[in-house]
Amino acid sequence: MSTTLEAPSLRRPGHLFIGGTWQAPADGGGIDVMAPFNEQVFARVGEAGRADIDAAVAAARRAFDEGPWPRLRPAERAAKLLEVAAQMEKRAEDLASAYTNQVGMPHRIAQMSGGGAIALVRYFAGLGETFPFEDVRPCPQGGIAVVVREPVGVAVCIAPWNAPLHTMLLKVIPALLAGCAVIAKPSPETPIDALILAECIEAVGLPEGVFSVVTAGRDVSDYLMRHESVDKVSFTGSTTVGRHIASVCGERMTRFTMELGGKSAAIVLDDISVPDAVAAMMPHIVLLAGQQCAALSRVLVSRKRRNELVEAMAAAMRHVPVGDPYDAATLMGPLIAQRQLDRVNGYIAQGTREGARLVTGGGRPRGLERGFFIEPTLFTDAENSMVFCREEIFGPVAAVITYDDEEQAIRIANDSPYGLSGGIFTQDKERAYAIARRVRTGNITQNGRIIDFTLPYGGFKLSGLGREGGPEGLDAFTEVKTVFLPTPPAHLTAAS
Ligand code: NAD
Repeated sequence: MSTTLEAPSLRRPGHLFIGGTWQAPADGGGIDVMAPFNEQVFARVGEAGRADIDAAVAAARRAFDEGPWPRLRPAERAAKLLEVAAQMEKRAEDLASAYTNQVGMPHRIAQMSGGGAIALVRYFAGLGETFPFEDVRPCPQGGIAVVVREPVGVAVCIAPWNAPLHTMLLKVIPALLAGCAVIAKPSPETPIDALILAECIEAVGLPEGVFSVVTAGRDVSDYLMRHESVDKVSFTGSTTVGRHIASVCGERMTRFTMELGGKSAAIVLDDISVPDAVAAMMPHIVLLAGQQCAALSRVLVSRKRRNELVEAMAAAMRHVPVGDPYDAATLMGPLIAQRQLDRVNGYIAQGTREGARLVTGGGRPRGLERGFFIEPTLFTDAENSMVFCREEIFGPVAAVITYDDEEQAIRIANDSPYGLSGGIFTQDKERAYAIARRVRTGNITQNGRIIDFTLPYGGFKLSGLGREGGPEGLDAFTEVKTVFLPTPPAHLTAAS
């Protein structure tokens, strides 16, 4: 891994995109961006201070209160979003390199996921035609009611570093379609995608103030989400920070959506072959070096099949190619930073201390001296009550826990402060569905783990509040207004 990375091709490096123009940070701040696989600082972006936040919020407020964007028809906003998708298509390679260089995502997977990001923008643009922005209903007291979904206002979109483009687009695009003015706040580890997105939006010319990007650290981000002119905070990140933001928003009734952490269970039933279960499960443990909110980190298996499953999982983990994300053979890159490596190592030590047995992994892969790499790691003899089975590790670490019968498997799956995702590994769709209905989690899949931006995604319990993706993800950026009239207005009569 001796390759020296080039700086990303940004139009105005070191600048913030505020109110439709590129501006140098008022106090001259900057953030170094490091590639986690070779520890090279390959970019420096601007760091917003409070004055920059005030400027971005003021521009967004003006755009929302006085500008044309919220008053356009949804189809007109959708047309602009399709232009943004076309711009992103031109920048596909820049976006893929940004993903690889910032996160260490294997480049061929980063390239494929770029197509998904563009499809996401087009999908939401399509909702401009079909979403019930104005819904005429009969009123029992006479006349009709138009149930209108209006934009929620100035929306702050805060994203984490693990999938920086997708997590940001899932907020920014529906917010723009709804008619909001948007301030995007990417993670300081991964700001490049949002800046490229700003260039794409600049190229299509949205009205002034409708979209800003402020790259900022924790304190200034805190200042932003507390700003009294903000109407909605859409947050994806850790449960710790999410709880803090939700409590601040709750005090002021600022609307919020929380996409937080997880500790999801894979329930392996006896009717599926172990090799089939392992093949279907493994990507959801090791991809992104396990830094997936929906990682299947607790693997539940019947006592009698435990040894067979553990052996097969361990063999599969030992064969995962870990290393240079630009090597076409690599499936798993590094963790994001030294502090994440320390955190994962801490949980591995904790699992051992608590009495679980380390089967494979737990160390630095041989031959990878630089970068924040860790081996895929498997524990068995784990108990669901152990701390490392209750807290989110956010690394490629799975714990095998045994159950005696299906009832106990469901109880263990539900015995978690989180409820984000899950998998049921079986040949029997009836059993899979029956179990799925009893697991308290936001999404669950038979024989794998699907996340799809056309369908709602989000968490029960400490995994969050609200949903992203699908029409529900657009609804999250609207307020409902009910207008009573004797008969529908002309434009709605004509449409029906
Ligand atoms: P984090 O909570 O540390 O940071 C997330 C974002 O919040 C970053 O942009 C950060 O700069 C910002 N932030 C931090 N403190 C803030 C504050 N006081 N006010 C405003 N903004 C603040 O999380 P992370 O380490 O970047 O990401 C990992 C976490 O994200 C994991 O817990 C993972 O499960 C979660 N995640 C959840 C989903 C989901 O859809 N549920 C998806 C991806 C990641």
